[in-house]
Amino acid sequence: MKMKKVCSFCGRGEQDVSLLITGLNGYICNECAEQAYQITKEALKGAGNKKTDLGFELEQLPKPKEIKEYLDQYVIGQDDAKRYLAVSVYNHYKRLAQHTTDDGVEIEKSNIIMVGSTGTGKTLLARTIAKLLHVPFTIVDATVFTEAGYVGEDVESILSRLLQVADYDVDAAQRGIVFIDEIDKIARKSDNPSITRDVSGEGVQQGLLKLLEGSMVNVPPKGGRKHPDQDYIHVDTRNILFICGGAFDGIEKKIAQRLNTHVVGYNSVQNMQHIDKSNLMKYILPQDLKSFGLIPEIIGRLPVLTYLNPLDRTALRNILTEPKNSIVKQQIKLFEMDGIKLSFAEETLEYIVDKAVEYNLGARGLRSIMESIMMEAMYEKPSQKTKKFVVTLDYAKQQLEKANLNRYSEA
Ligand code: ADP
Repeated sequence: MKMKKVCSFCGRGEQDVSLLITGLNGYICNECAEQAYQITKEALKGAGNKKTDLGFELEQLPKPKEIKEYLDQYVIGQDDAKRYLAVSVYNHYKRLAQHTTDDGVEIEKSNIIMVGSTGTGKTLLARTIAKLLHVPFTIVDATVFTEAGYVGEDVESILSRLLQVADYDVDAAQRGIVFIDEIDKIARKSDNPSITRDVSGEGVQQGLLKLLEGSMVNVPPKGGRKHPDQDYIHVDTRNILFICGGAFDGIEKKIAQRLNTHVVGYNSVQNMQHIDKSNLMKYILPQDLKSFGLIPEIIGRLPVLTYLNPLDRTALRNILTEPKNSIVKQQIKLFEMDGIKLSFAEETLEYIVDKAVEYNLGARGLRSIMESIMMEAMYEKPSQKTKKFVVTLDYAKQQLEKANLNRYSEA
């Protein structure tokens, strides 16, 4: 006997509903399915709120020392910056946790600014720490921003990105961390701001200030489909941690000037002798950022100032092989997938470091030099029956000379 198809939830027959979905032991009509969806959504939203306030217990989180040890696996040197970052991120969590204990002491947030030449590991530090985090994290580039109303992105788009990575969970985004790269590129170009309109400089800094200070910001939802009925999302930036990074090319001159003018007389001559002239960056103070063209209000909102060291030969040599996903380890893995055992002669690695120093591109140069040396082998070897390939100094030299050398020296 053929059973009459009815919804197992409301009992209505096939002819009474628009759609009846067949299950293993019964049916569900479109209306019940819709209702079930609403109920699930409500129920899970409640569960989500329970999981957080925060979604984690402070005890479960890595302590600053552990954060630094983790960073050590991926980033060579830069101990000061690592410590500052580890402490700031840990304190960020603490600040988030404090809402549950209400004793009137409010921990204020400490946004960070990292200063260091290009290719010394600022972005790498930010990316690495992001892997460890329990909060939404995004990297944005300050160069794309322009003052509101001009062509380019408004600073509010930073929050759109954060919302995106937080899957539009506003609460989560409001506890997130944002890395703003190339903050030096929005420095005021001249000391007199009124001479010309500075579309990409001070105006952007003012916009950014609003976010750093902690305020309610109206964010236009991107790809509006997710929120068709909503014009703006209100995001409170009070608890978002901002980490800024920039090369601040030429800031050493400002530091040197300051060191020179502040030390006058006999004592100062002695003081000057203790100064490590090869790395003036480590004497950086907030006023140097001001001389460079950041407005004092911004500097005030970035109370943790740290620096990255220029990478010397030893650091560059270590970067080639030591990090968990070092350039050499990556190459070996690529060849391994074709069944080829790849190795590098020590003198080849030294040669790569020499060239990186010569082209003055920091660690960034290492990768492009490596790619040029390996390009032909990567093209040829997979179709040959090679089982083993040693990259000798002669081979490396020959390949690099073949590649367009000017490409690097001009860059
Ligand atoms: P920055 O942001 O300071 O300009 P990046 O962090 O983007 O520089 O560095 C570029 C690349 O150079 C990284 O992807 C990484 O491979 C390498 N690198 C730079 N500094 C270091 C470092 N201290 N330790 C390990 N690798 C590094």
